[in-house]
Amino acid sequence: MRKVPIYTALILAFILAATNIFAQYDQEKDEKLSFINEAPYKTVTVKSIEGEKVKNVILMIGDGMGLTQISTAWVANRGDLNMTKMPFTGLVRTYAANKLITDSGAAGTAMATGQKTSYHSVGVDVNGNPLPSLTDLAKAKGLSTAVVVTCGLTDATPAAFCANNADRDMEEELAADFLDCNVDFILGGGRDKFIKRTDGRDLMKEMEQKGYQVTRTWEETSKINSGKVFAVLEDGQLPMAEKRDGIWQHASMKAIEMLSKNDEGFFAMLEGSRIDDCGHWHDIPKLMGEIFDFDQTIGKVLQWAEKDGETLVIVLADHETGGLTLLDGSIENGTVKGHFSTGGHSDIMVPVFAYGPQAEKFVGVYENTDIFKKISEILNLLP
Ligand SMILES: [Zn+2]
Repeated sequence: MRKVPIYTALILAFILAATNIFAQYDQEKDEKLSFINEAPYKTVTVKSIEGEKVKNVILMIGDGMGLTQISTAWVANRGDLNMTKMPFTGLVRTYAANKLITDSGAAGTAMATGQKTSYHSVGVDVNGNPLPSLTDLAKAKGLSTAVVVTCGLTDATPAAFCANNADRDMEEELAADFLDCNVDFILGGGRDKFIKRTDGRDLMKEMEQKGYQVTRTWEETSKINSGKVFAVLEDGQLPMAEKRDGIWQHASMKAIEMLSKNDEGFFAMLEGSRIDDCGHWHDIPKLMGEIFDFDQTIGKVLQWAEKDGETLVIVLADHETGGLTLLDGSIENGTVKGHFSTGGHSDIMVPVFAYGPQAEKFVGVYENTDIFKKISEILNLLP
């Protein structure tokens, strides 16, 4: 018998090892594409609001939460979600001024300022001129404001409401803009951009000098009941839902409670920021965790709004992420199996759900800029 030459043996060993690695990779990929919801949660039922007066608006943005993300979560939670029980629905076109497939910068800016802008811009028009956002306009009319997110504060969506820059990657500049944004309750992550800076400034300290109660943990933040809050809970983003201990839910309700002390009313932007990450990662189990956390918060917000009677709640996305398709599953067993078609965003229209006085104004098919127009009209924010 002939001996197998050493290099042939090496090549064979390499092929075997590579096949094994690929098989493992495929298995991990498959695991991320299906999910079984072992513990479905109960949704809330709220009665419809009779009056027309809107004192407060709560805008809840699921970053990257397209219709298939919502449908997948609906199946996984055994055919039940809070958001899909909201009585009025519409569809929003998300494209940017210079690009069909948008990002959270241009899409956030459209909703915050009413103008379509360039891809990767935040809070500025296509020429780079700063635009007033809903939080600026609400504040100018005497309303209280909040921005509560699970990402870094200098990430695109919160930056679109609190900062102005033609380039969303200029995060040190975006962080400095928070000093002038005047929002009453700010909570998120991204502490590094405020303290580990090339200019050596400590913006946490500067926010304190501006009159904010500056906190670094949820425990500290939860004890505050009045005044302005600047809570930056992590160096980077807040952890994913399974490790977040409901902090975003608690923070959202805390912000609403504190803001509601203002007789003039309030505007709050609450973002489930990390839904988008799961779309980029092609990770359905994590995606379900994020949407369930977002939707359970919606349940609490709806109950609060029902009791208040003068609060309009709007739930929508800035764009879809991952080009998700739902391929299989069972409503009875809470199982889902999906497929992603892109590592980036897609341009499919995103749904809007509305509850409360004047919620019927959000029915129809319209541009993301109309979100700003409708809210500023309803709250009478424009001069
Ligand atoms: Zn994204």
